[in-house]
Amino acid sequence: MSVYAKNIPEIFGSMVFSDKVMREKLPRDTYKALKKTIEKGSLLTTEVANAVAAAMKEWALEKGATHFTHWFQPLTGITAEKHDSFIEQSNGSVIMEFTGKALIQGEPDASSFPSGGLRATFEARGYTTWDPSSYAFIKEKTLYIPTAFCSYSGQVLDKKTPLLRSMEALERQVLRILALFGSVEGVSVKTTVGAEQEYFLIDKSMYEKRKDLRMCGRTLFGAKPPKGQELEDHYFGSIKTRVKNFMEDLNQELWKLGIATKTEHNEVAPGQHELAPIFTTTNIACDHNQLTMEMMKKVAARHDLVCLLHEKPFAGVNGSGKHNNWSISSSANGNLFEPGDSPEKNAQFLLFLSAVIKAVDNYADLLRVSVSTASNDHRLGASEAPPAIVSIFLGTELTAILESIENGNCYDKKCESVMDIGVSVLPHFPKDNTDRNRTSPFAFTGNKFEFRMVGSSLSIADANIVINTIVAEELSKFADILEKTDDLNAAITEIVRTTYKNHKRIIFNGDGYSAEWQEEAERRNLCNFKTAYEAIPRFKDEKNIALFTKHMIFTKEEIESRCEVMLENYIKTINIEALTMLDMVKKDILPAAAAYVGDLTDNVLKKKTLGIGTCEYESSLISKLSGLSDLLYRKSGELDLLLIEARSIEQTEAKAQYYGKTIFEKMCEIRMAADEIESLTASKYWPYPVYSDILFSV
Ligand code: ADP
Ligand code: MG
Repeated sequence: MSVYAKNIPEIFGSMVFSDKVMREKLPRDTYKALKKTIEKGSLLTTEVANAVAAAMKEWALEKGATHFTHWFQPLTGITAEKHDSFIEQSNGSVIMEFTGKALIQGEPDASSFPSGGLRATFEARGYTTWDPSSYAFIKEKTLYIPTAFCSYSGQVLDKKTPLLRSMEALERQVLRILALFGSVEGVSVKTTVGAEQEYFLIDKSMYEKRKDLRMCGRTLFGAKPPKGQELEDHYFGSIKTRVKNFMEDLNQELWKLGIATKTEHNEVAPGQHELAPIFTTTNIACDHNQLTMEMMKKVAARHDLVCLLHEKPFAGVNGSGKHNNWSISSSANGNLFEPGDSPEKNAQFLLFLSAVIKAVDNYADLLRVSVSTASNDHRLGASEAPPAIVSIFLGTELTAILESIENGNCYDKKCESVMDIGVSVLPHFPKDNTDRNRTSPFAFTGNKFEFRMVGSSLSIADANIVINTIVAEELSKFADILEKTDDLNAAITEIVRTTYKNHKRIIFNGDGYSAEWQEEAERRNLCNFKTAYEAIPRFKDEKNIALFTKHMIFTKEEIESRCEVMLENYIKTINIEALTMLDMVKKDILPAAAAYVGDLTDNVLKKKTLGIGTCEYESSLISKLSGLSDLLYRKSGELDLLLIEARSIEQTEAKAQYYGKTIFEKMCEIRMAADEIESLTASKYWPYPVYSDILFSV
């Protein structure tokens, strides 16, 4: 065992102001008061806050920190921070100071964060408020304090606040259901998440030579390389030393921060990898995923690599996603999606399962909204996992069980009587390992659900806000019925039966890539938004506003503003890509083709003077390249005009549609012409590293 390996238990969480550290560093009463705040959300007194801040400061100074920052998650989807040193002046010298007030509240200038019109610049003040349920940590000599972010007038401007609210909303409803089965005194309920993160690693020198990668995070051009992923030799292949070194370094950094990364492997595309942590409470999982993404980029740089988190950095090979594994856990019962072996567990399990089925069917649009960005559109619906159609995979066994409950008959030939919910034990069904369907966007995988539509670069907050809230809603409807019944088992049976009957259209266990599924899904009238600009406005549909306001996650104004931010982001992303494209075409690609054609022409002239050969090779290339260059030049001019036209569109939805359709289509035409030019141009003239250089650079 290496020294490094021996030290892992010591390294793990060493930079986290964890429960263990709190217990050691805080006076007993302070610790107890803080625990109450963490678990029950009770308010902290100034005294307790001061004591916690003092202990945090001592601990941070011991670890070499000089600064602290409130760390928050604005609507940009990434994190924000503003560092302050602990230094205060006192009687002509400096002391290191950190008060309870500075711990609890910060006031960053909020004027430049997206608010979707919620906050006028004259009231630009924003507040960050400590989230004690996610531990503070030290990174780069700075004490990071996870916080929520809202405007002066109290409107939510971040992703953490609604996520915490959605967890509370779900807890309220789950407790109502659990209360039907027994006492819930002192029971707490949390959702848990494990986010599998996909990414690409490429050599830094390649990245630096590509304007598109630097500006947009993805290649806007690139002819198909002779070898892509067709040999399937990269998936789970042996990990190259340079990549292994990166992973080792990354793990070290993440372990210090208490992030339990566990699994790592090569993914399908060349240069593509995946990292999965052990699951944890949702808001912590979300903070951890943000840190993981940030660390991936930083650590890659140390190895002269660049980590690409874009959903589709390269056309023609797989894109990157993030599998959001989600479950509900109660302090008394453990994982609520673990099919149990007692009649009571069986009834509970089927009830929770039914809530998810109903939620996903009723709010499929919101799930799609939660993963809608310009970058993720390249993945969803582009015949790779998963399609844009929202459906649930349950596996054949579980589907058969629900089917038999609907029809009131036997689940398999062996059973002697009809399964009676709440009386009989759930028939044992194996985890559907054989047909563990990789194409389903929302798959039940034994004791949790895996939502696979999340893009690799996205915050997992949005998806989990939606999942928690829609499941809370369906559970609340179930609880309304069940709290009034005299015959619990009969009422549960009826709920499970009617839910399956009315919502089974959402269940699909087959191949999500197939053309038949597209047709079948249309017959079933399932949600299938191919683009983000079609999906995002559905966020503010009446039924969705009713949902979020009922559970106190968002106000109507907050939903409208979030819609606006998402659409603006969509527009800006495509606009930057279009401008980068034009820049590359005009400054690099057309001049490269012209230089090559120029040299070929010179050759022809020289050869002709000497009367050598027919010059068929040169002549045909010259005419092909000249034709393509003219085409590319013309198309670029057209894109220029479309971009000018776009400026006059005022309404955000219309503008997003214009970008998603008209501008994007023109960009595809430009790419096609440019890629053909690339395939005809001699290497030494081509201004950029090509796909085979980049994809196999590490
Ligand atoms: P896969 O075959 O898709 O890699 P795994 O069983 O390895 O599936 O799990 C993938 C992720 O799911 C891991 O991050 C794991 O910690 C997480 N996970 C497992 N159980 C739960 C749960 N109860 N709640 C949330 N996430 C979970
Ligand atoms: Mg997975």
